Amino acid sequence: MFHKILIANRGEIACRVAATARRLGIRTVAVYSEADAQARHVAACDEAVCVGGAAPKDSYLRWERIIEAARATGAQAIHPGYGFLSENEGFAQACADAGLVFIGPPPSAIAAMGLKAESKRLMETAGVPLVPGYHGADQDPRLLKAEADRIGYPVLIKASAGGGGKGMRLVEAPEAFDDALASCQREALNSFGDAAVLIEKYVQRPRHIEIQVFADAHGNAVYLFERDCSVQRRHQKVLEEAPAPGMPPELRERMGLAAVAAARAVGYVGAGTVEFIVEQPQGYDHPEAMRFYFMEMNTRLQVEHPVTEAITGLDLVEWQLRVAAGEPLPLAQRDLRLQGHAIEARICAENPDNQFLPATGRLSVYRKPACSAFAVSDVRIDDGVGEGDTISPHYDSMIAKLIVRGDTREQALARLDQALAQLHIVGVANNVAFLRHVVRSPSFAQARLDTALIARESAVLFGQQPVSLTAAVAIAVAHTLTTEAQAAQEASAEGHDPWRARDGFASHGERSRRFAFQWGEDTVPARLTWRRDGSRWLVVGEGEAATAGALAWRDAPGGGWALGVSFAGEDWRATVYAQGERLHLFTPQGSAAIVEVDLLAHAGDAAAEGGRLTAPMPGKVVAFLVQAGDAVKKGQPLAVLEAMKMEHTIAAPADGTVAELLYAPGDQVADGAELLRLGGA
Ligand code: ADP
Ligand code: ADP
Ligand code: MG
Repeated sequence: MFHKILIANRGEIACRVAATARRLGIRTVAVYSEADAQARHVAACDEAVCVGGAAPKDSYLRWERIIEAARATGAQAIHPGYGFLSENEGFAQACADAGLVFIGPPPSAIAAMGLKAESKRLMETAGVPLVPGYHGADQDPRLLKAEADRIGYPVLIKASAGGGGKGMRLVEAPEAFDDALASCQREALNSFGDAAVLIEKYVQRPRHIEIQVFADAHGNAVYLFERDCSVQRRHQKVLEEAPAPGMPPELRERMGLAAVAAARAVGYVGAGTVEFIVEQPQGYDHPEAMRFYFMEMNTRLQVEHPVTEAITGLDLVEWQLRVAAGEPLPLAQRDLRLQGHAIEARICAENPDNQFLPATGRLSVYRKPACSAFAVSDVRIDDGVGEGDTISPHYDSMIAKLIVRGDTREQALARLDQALAQLHIVGVANNVAFLRHVVRSPSFAQARLDTALIARESAVLFGQQPVSLTAAVAIAVAHTLTTEAQAAQEASAEGHDPWRARDGFASHGERSRRFAFQWGEDTVPARLTWRRDGSRWLVVGEGEAATAGALAWRDAPGGGWALGVSFAGEDWRATVYAQGERLHLFTPQGSAAIVEVDLLAHAGDAAAEGGRLTAPMPGKVVAFLVQAGDAVKKGQPLAVLEAMKMEHTIAAPADGTVAELLYAPGDQVADGAELLRLGGA
């Protein structure tokens, strides 16, 4: 076995490879870009070498520097992860030339599978079933059009060198073919430096089912069962599971053997995935009728490999390292067992409600459910970031992978939903809420799977608000008062005014306090009253539409929720993160953001128009800090009001002159009472 390897990647996959290497007693070398000096994968390795600037072409794709780093640090082998250089035969060859082991297949196998068109020609010879199509070398547009007409619409035009869901065009009718071809070729040339395309019959309502294969250098090859990756957006995977729901054992074996035949046909060594597109000619309820066709082979470790680990109990990176070091496969086909069910969700920085546009930003909150990393367990999270880290525009938008396992699919689904609820991310737009909607959608829950699932279920997937306005306001009010009480308690512990330790309850009568919240486009008032019996009464909204009821809250430390709130006969649990006036609420039902409008800060806004400065809540005038006739500057403190045992300063909304003081210190004032009159500057 190796004693030191270099990991030519970043993010979660670099951390994941480092974890297995560490477990096996192998030392690790990280490479990183200038943007990644503080990244987790650097800390996860024993040594690290900077290989250049932020853009991948200046760092993670600079293979001569990476090979130089391996040499300089005495690494014996290079693990490429996925993406970047993982499917680059030139890099694999350069490693070999430098006397380094490339932890992956031989360059010839990468080359054979690198172009979709050529790999299809090879698979045809190996007897692996193909989607009806054209994958010839002749790229004359008239010939391509004639082929599409022969295949019959709809067809898919694919960039032969494509990957990552890019360079594909669906063509529904002959009239649309020429434009689609031109635009596909343009994208192919731009993204992959190669305009060649192939044409395939577009399989209707297909499932994406792929087979994990492994081969060693001694002629052994096995399949580690299948993964169903049918839930996709923009031809990219969103949820992946193993085994494929409803998979007949006989079909599993046929697909497994076809995948092994594909690997053998190219002299494959190491981990690989053979992707099949699967037709369901008799619908979801007849999986025995499914027909599979070779789509492509990914000659590397796949993003979704953890679901295979979860159902086989194996560490695929360990297998990769053993095979690369020349050992035989640890297990034979007959020794491999499939147990339980696993699902992976890709947690991405993106905006599902805006065409899944990638997002960037700082993970100001990043809290995870109880989980383990890089190991078979009920809840596993593989990530390469932590709270406070930034999702930069230079790399992938994947924040983390959440993998759950259960004895059955139902159990795995329930765990996934729960784990998603407890994954709290603030600061970067993300797909967590969207994933929960997908998991709960009828199609996914009942395993009616195909690649159009997201489009079909769009009515329940997009623009849903899982938290009601009343719940949000009740939780926000409870949160505000608990944090104020805590602050007051801390202040009194430090020897400040002991009155501040009280939360506003007064024995001699009722007090109330006004709130205002920004909820989407609406501003919603709320009023909380402390009653003589010590209970609290909350009114949310105004007039007919108002909801009123008793409000109570308590600590709810169990299950990861901080606060238990009951209002108007309903109960919620929630964890709240405040960012200034914006409150991010996470509940078992889902998350929401609500803005608490600071009435004190905005009290002057209305005053500025009419020259009135009013009390934002009932209270006692403690002091006036100005006199009639004084010239004041915007923001200058004018008066101090005591309400709910807290002092509040009222500031000038604009430059001006104090015209008149309407109360004296010590006076009780009602909510909305005018305190002083301000004239223009
Ligand atoms: P997988 O096939 O492993 O399920 P993806 O298809 O999403 O996952 O690709 C894995 C990673 O490799 C992603 O980070 C993707 O951006 C990257 N990737 C895939 N194909 C290419 C390519 N041709 N060029 C550059 N990056 C790619
Ligand atoms: P990539 O290299 O980008 O992963 P693939 O050839 O693997 O490209 O295709 C990506 C996805 O596009 C598949 O998972 C599937 O959803 C869809 N797809 C590909 N080929 C077909 C086809 N012939 N018919 C219907 N959908 C297809
Ligand atoms: Mg693919």
